[in-house]
This record gives sequence, C-alpha cells and structure tokens, in this order.
Amino acid sequence: MKVTQRNIRNLNHFKTILLSKRNEVLKNFSELEYEFQQPKIDKGPLLPSHPAEAGTDNFDLENTAELLENERNILNDIDRALECMEQGMYGLCESCQKPISLKRLQAIPCVRLCVNCADKEEKIRSNARRPFFRMRPFPYWQ
Ligand SMILES: [Zn+2]
Repeated sequence: MKVTQRNIRNLNHFKTILLSKRNEVLKNFSELEYEFQQPKIDKGPLLPSHPAEAGTDNFDLENTAELLENERNILNDIDRALECMEQGMYGLCESCQKPISLKRLQAIPCVRLCVNCADKEEKIRSNARRPFFRMRPFPYWQ
C-alpha cells in the first residue's frame, strides 16, 4: 500500500514537544541507570546478610529495571516518531496507515497506532498477559 505524506500544519510544534520529551527521558534514563548500577558497586558480598534486606533490595532493583525499561520504550517511540517526521509519515497509523487524529497526537505525540488499532492490540496483549498475571502472588492492580 502506498502511503502519502501526512500534511500536519503544526508539525514543528510536535517536533518541539518530542525533542524536549526526549531530553527529559534521557535525563531520567541516566539517573535511573546510575541508581541501577549503584548497589552493584556498594554491596560487596553477593549473598545478603539479612533476608528481609535482600527482599527490599531486589524489589528496588526490579522497580528500577522496570522504570528503565519503560524509559527505554518511550525513547524508542520518540525516536521512531522523529524518524517518521523525517520521512513525512508522522501521524499515520503504523498498522492501518490511516491518519491518527490530531487530538490523539496532541495527547500522545509519539503514538504509533490509531485508536482502533491500539484497541485491537491492547485486546490481544491483555489476552496474552492473562496467564502471567495469574501466576503473580498479589494481583491487586487488576
Ligand atoms: Zn490504525
């Protein structure tokens, strides 16, 4: 399918938002990365002396790893959005190639899918995720 360039009048507006968001994410990212590497430097022995302490440490580490992963994903999305701008494809849904509504772009400037496709993907993902959640000890967020 041939994709035509999406004409967005305020493309520069979105570019500015994406670039400043990118800086913000990079800053968060390096702070988290620093935090993530700290315990490895500080804690000498691999085996913790106190089990409760180890639990907290692991939780913190897991948390940081999750946050890092999250920031990395956002960064990827922003980079992809900026690349799309270069190619004149910004604001087009990656799945159905239809224009994403301006309202949606304003809410999430690095969004990749239109509302319909995002809905579909979310349904597929939540189905795939379900067995994993069942294995979790405290699924209180469900
Ligand atoms: Zn779509």
